[in-house]
Amino acid sequence: MTDPSLRSWVAAANDENGDFPLQNLPYGVFSDKGRPPRCGVAIGDMILDLAECEARGLLDAKGTFRAPQLNDFMALGRGTWDRIRATLTRLLGEDGDRSLPLVPMADARLHLPIRVTEFTDFYASRNHAFNVGVLFRGPDHALPPQWTHMPIGYNGRASSVVVSGTPIRRPMGQIKGADGPVWTASRRLDLELELGAIVGADSRMGQRISVEEAEDMIFGYVLLNDWSARDIQAWEYQPLGPFQAKALGTTISPWIVTQAALEPFRCPGAKRDNPILPYLQEQRPGFYDLTLGWTMNGQTMAQTNYKVMYWSSAQQLAHHAVSGCPMRVGDLLGTGTISGPSLDQTGALLEMTQGGQNPVRVAGAERVFIEDGDEVGLYGYAQGDGYRIGFGPCTGTILPADE
Ligand code: MN
Repeated sequence: MTDPSLRSWVAAANDENGDFPLQNLPYGVFSDKGRPPRCGVAIGDMILDLAECEARGLLDAKGTFRAPQLNDFMALGRGTWDRIRATLTRLLGEDGDRSLPLVPMADARLHLPIRVTEFTDFYASRNHAFNVGVLFRGPDHALPPQWTHMPIGYNGRASSVVVSGTPIRRPMGQIKGADGPVWTASRRLDLELELGAIVGADSRMGQRISVEEAEDMIFGYVLLNDWSARDIQAWEYQPLGPFQAKALGTTISPWIVTQAALEPFRCPGAKRDNPILPYLQEQRPGFYDLTLGWTMNGQTMAQTNYKVMYWSSAQQLAHHAVSGCPMRVGDLLGTGTISGPSLDQTGALLEMTQGGQNPVRVAGAERVFIEDGDEVGLYGYAQGDGYRIGFGPCTGTILPADE
């Protein structure tokens, strides 16, 4: 269990408003000084070079930390994850090893932390699903009838997942015009504030997974911005769901906050409308008390909490495999847009501006959707007693369309 009183010999790790205290230890992939990408752990304002730690015999991860992604390390299993976390907690603790190979974060470049095997995006916030349903279909058909009975999702593309800081190009596409389709740059470009669960274990084809087994397969979480072109989406989405509206890019944060670090913040989610089938029932609360928000051009736009969600990542994973679909190390599962009940808790501009009707003030200007040059950032943290488990930045800036 996490001890809130633990302190590190790395001074910046003890800043109580910092993202990366000793209780966090999120994993990422970094490079510096022309050296190749390798695995590291964030501590304060530094990165611990895990490949170098292993070369010095300080820990044993079968050489996996030399890889430019965390997939091989994750595949070693939960026993190894727990053992390495305990070793890192000791090495970086007050009585730890002060000669560890640390690289200043300011000197490092952060890379995509995993090779994304596949990407699936869900739709698990009741507030968001209802609000968007009203805008697309009206209040009577806002929430589809199956929504409270199963996690709704679609199979996305792993190839368009990028790391924080990667510019995103406004997409061209076809949208609905008064006299048929129009070829245009998207005029209704939006963000979606989400978490991404990272699967750290395989399942076999044909194997069903209980919610408890699914919990055990989740390595950790990242912030995830599911950029969305609403005008392309509105024209294309029926009957098979979003396609090109979601293909322009999906941004994730570079640091994977482990399930172990979030464990002290476990809590129940939204109240259920109706009983759910046994294969989706959970034995213990499946959510975390996690503050999540987003900014535009430096201004905080909305803030909510992961615990407003209706379906947990473990339930989504159990449902994903229920018909026999094999899951693999490196699968990324987006939670769906996270929105609380009020406008200042919404995780997308579509909701905040009520379909683009009510502009919002952003750093002295007006916006309904995202304009070229705008920077959107996500943030997230769990507040402990004297420390916080933060995710670090997840940003992207919109480039003009390639017309
Ligand atoms: Mn989404």
